[in-house]
Amino acid sequence: MHVSSCFDSGAVQVVDLSDPARLRLRLRPDSAADIRQWFHFRLQGARGVACRLRLEDADLAAFPDGWQGYRAVASYDRRAWFRVPAHFDGQALVIEHTPEADSVYYAYFEPYSGERHLDLLGRACLHARTRVERLGATAGGRDLDLVTVGEPASGKRKVWVIARQHPGESMAEWFAEGLLERLWDETDPVARAVLDKAVLFVVPNMNPDGAALGNLRTNAAGRNLNREWLSPSLAASPEVWHVRRAMEATGVDLFLDIHGDEGLPYVFTDGCDMLPSFTPAQAKREAAFLARFLEASPDFQTRCGYARDRFTDELLTLASKWVGHTFGCLSLTLEMPFKDNADRPDPVVGWNGLRSKALGAAVLEPILQDL
Ligand code: ZN
Repeated sequence: MHVSSCFDSGAVQVVDLSDPARLRLRLRPDSAADIRQWFHFRLQGARGVACRLRLEDADLAAFPDGWQGYRAVASYDRRAWFRVPAHFDGQALVIEHTPEADSVYYAYFEPYSGERHLDLLGRACLHARTRVERLGATAGGRDLDLVTVGEPASGKRKVWVIARQHPGESMAEWFAEGLLERLWDETDPVARAVLDKAVLFVVPNMNPDGAALGNLRTNAAGRNLNREWLSPSLAASPEVWHVRRAMEATGVDLFLDIHGDEGLPYVFTDGCDMLPSFTPAQAKREAAFLARFLEASPDFQTRCGYARDRFTDELLTLASKWVGHTFGCLSLTLEMPFKDNADRPDPVVGWNGLRSKALGAAVLEPILQDL
């Protein structure tokens, strides 16, 4: 029996594999920060064997509450991912599974691979009204790419959507793929109407280094990009530095920052109402956007979300707060679950890539409503 993780977004540490009833593993911290929760590994040679995989330091994870009600994802072919039973015993996360094939992959959430990311950029290059621009290099030397859909013209609104500042939140890039595919569908009247009125600037992966390295939350320099927006640096957070500069060049009329939440089993948004600069006009736009989103996707809800923050300057280090404050526009963080949508659970797959894609397609309707 063997466990390996030397592949795109692979992450785990092996302690002892001598007893299938007690396969001892540990979460591997982010590459340059002491933060752990993401895992992705291959188990080989366990076909037909009842396995209990123990991630022994799950209590040290960034969000231990995320293990409550959590089920791991598994796949044989790396295409179809399904949920397998898991429970948190207060210290370890214990995954129980009898593999039906020679190799099986386990992950915290359905991965969105680096190859799929490059394929998405390649497909973007072939679409009319779409441009792909390399904004600069990431901290680890990878390309940071912006996909622009729509023809710039005076009076057109500038809609910015960024995904995956936190690289372990792979659902965010699935969301971006769903959004882009709908924009590219020339038979879709909503997409056509949006592109008549707006240009969309989409960064499908803000943190390609962290994604490749199998990090939960940080880039190759160990920075949480969603705490860098007030004063990004080319040395430590070039991803934010480049995107912020591009936003300042285009202006921003509407901003969405796409994430996954370890704890809450719901899709929800978090706005800017705690900012001293928040205006009644922004509040009105936000209420109308959320109302239309509720109609467009029954996966979205507004009952459960984050507690209202009290304003501190620290909040302006977050992308959606900095953008809302700087541009005075509607600016939202959108969160999807790692577990499942408790309002609409799926016992086989939980929340997954396809459901995230569907949500990304549906968000075009509230965007159109706002234009
Ligand atoms: Zn996040």
